[in-house]
Parts: sequence; structure tokens; C-alpha cells
Amino acid sequence: MPTLIQDFNQLDFARPDKHHYQLAFPLDGTWGFSVVPLTVINGLRGPNQDGVICFGGTHGNEYEGQVAVKRLATDLLAEEMTGRVILMPRLSESACEANTRTSPLDGVNMNRAFPGNPRGTISSRIAHFVKTRIFPLGRVVIDIHSGGMEGAFPHCTSFHPIPDVAQEAETERAARLFDTPFIMVYSSAMAHGLLTDEAEAEGKITLGSEFGAGASTDRLGVRHAYVGTKNVLRHYGLLEGEFEPVRPVGSPPARLVRAPHLDAYVPTPREGVWEPLLAPGDPVREGDLVGRLHDFADHSSEALEIRAPREGFLIMMHLSARPVKGQTLFVVAEG
Ligand SMILES: [Zn+2]
Repeated sequence: MPTLIQDFNQLDFARPDKHHYQLAFPLDGTWGFSVVPLTVINGLRGPNQDGVICFGGTHGNEYEGQVAVKRLATDLLAEEMTGRVILMPRLSESACEANTRTSPLDGVNMNRAFPGNPRGTISSRIAHFVKTRIFPLGRVVIDIHSGGMEGAFPHCTSFHPIPDVAQEAETERAARLFDTPFIMVYSSAMAHGLLTDEAEAEGKITLGSEFGAGASTDRLGVRHAYVGTKNVLRHYGLLEGEFEPVRPVGSPPARLVRAPHLDAYVPTPREGVWEPLLAPGDPVREGDLVGRLHDFADHSSEALEIRAPREGFLIMMHLSARPVKGQTLFVVAEG
């Protein structure tokens, strides 16, 4: 069983070998704890300055990261490693337990809670712990997501536009280690307070990812997450061995697509029943029909046709049949 930790000053992140912990964060309104799993591995083969930190379950209803990071916690062996790996498979533990995107304890989306606040609600305090206690332990940060109930993406790793050229180039190299068909460079303006925002701003090599959708456990998505993270460990010398492909041999290299501006994110013009005509990852030309919105108030009415505003690739498609006015219906990334 993992060691239960209530006084976080007891954590010794330099202790050699592999150690499993449960971090008990006191709840806000009742006597109890949100118990957040943490595994710390200090390789027995010597030091390595490029520590790697990997998160799953930042959103509770996204399972590829939870499963892949848990498996890494059991499979990685300190005897075979150099340096330090930090694994947190269920960062928003309360959201994971509830199978929801945000924590039911405080209604907070963990991926909007950064940099956190030591006197804030539970999600904000966990974010602050990550920012102040976990981020200093690594140079590479991986946050594994999927579309949840919001959207469907082709399997991709992701990062924001990064002003530092060397940091962006190294981030792209690391993104390719997951062997996904796409790499997405996405807008920083769509949301603030992301875990990855914070790590990128600290100059870390930071990767987000989208490995499935619909609160399922995507089989290939788990493989991208698990093998990709191991490839990162190999690339930075924490694990021995060569790059391991995920897709069939002969697959084209990941296509890097960019949606850095908000006009790539097409909002739903009105309520309706969404009929997608294309799939995530499909190419589009300007004016192509992407889908139709049906109004069942009058079933004899013509559907509203929704067309691509520009050429590119559909890097995200709304998942649910019932988008709400203003929700992003799809994203056309240029590539
Ligand atoms: Zn997510």
C-alpha cells in the first residue's frame, strides 16, 4: 500500500528507489481528505538532470492518462533508471472519483486552477502544491488529456506557441516521441490557468495531449500515452533503449498543425442537433461542409449548413449531438 502523507513536509523527494504515496489534502467543508496518488522514482543508476513529471486525471472523466500513468507507476523500475520521475495519475482525485471534468468538491476545473492558492479551495491548493513542490523536481512536464465529453480530437500531443525558439524546438522534438498522427499548437487565449501554461512559463519542456474522447478508455490512446512517456524517458536518458513506435511501421511523421488564433475556433451559431459530416483529423478546404445543425421545432425545415472558414485540418470536433450556442463546434488548424 502507498504511504499516507498528511504532513507534506515529510515527503523526501530525493529518497532513492520507488515510493508510492497518497497525499491527504484536507477538504474545505467537512472533516476528511481528498487522497491524491503520487509515485516518486529516483533511479538507482545515478543522477540525471532532466527529471520528468507526468500527470493523468487533471480532468476526471479522461481515462487514458489515469490508466497509462498508473501503469507506469507499477512498471517502471528504479534499478533500470537514472534520475527522477514523478507520477501523479489522478491529479484531480475528486473529479476522477466522480467521473466528471471538474471537481464536485469546489466546482473547479483543475486545468484552470494554476498557479493555485495555498488558502484557496481544494483544487486550488492541489494546484499550488504542484506549482511549488512538484514543478521544481523536473525539467519535462507531461499532462495527459482527452476530449472528455466536450470534443473529439485525432490523437495528438500539444503545446502553446512558445516565444523562446530553443524551448519550442525541443518541445516539438519531445512531442514527436508520442508517435501521434498530429501535433497541435493551440491558442493561449482560449483559457487561462492551465497546468501547461504554468510549466511552459517556467521554461520547462511541456506537453499536453488529447488521446481519446467520451469518458471512455481509448485503447490506442493509452498506448500513445504509455509508450510515448517511456520514449520521453529514453530520449532524456532516464531509461535505456531506442524509440519505440506506436503506429504501424511506415506511418507518416506527425503532422504539426497550428490553431494559435481564436478565429480557428468556430462557435455554434444556435442550438440544434449536430450532424457531423467529417471526422476529427480530416482535411478541409475553405467552404467545405463540415456538418449540419437540425432544428426539430420544424422537422420540415432546411438544416443550417456549417462550413469551414479556411483550409486546414479538423483538429477538434464537438462530441455531443447537442451543442449549446457559443460552444466550439470545431477547430480548423493550419498545417
Ligand atoms: Zn482534459
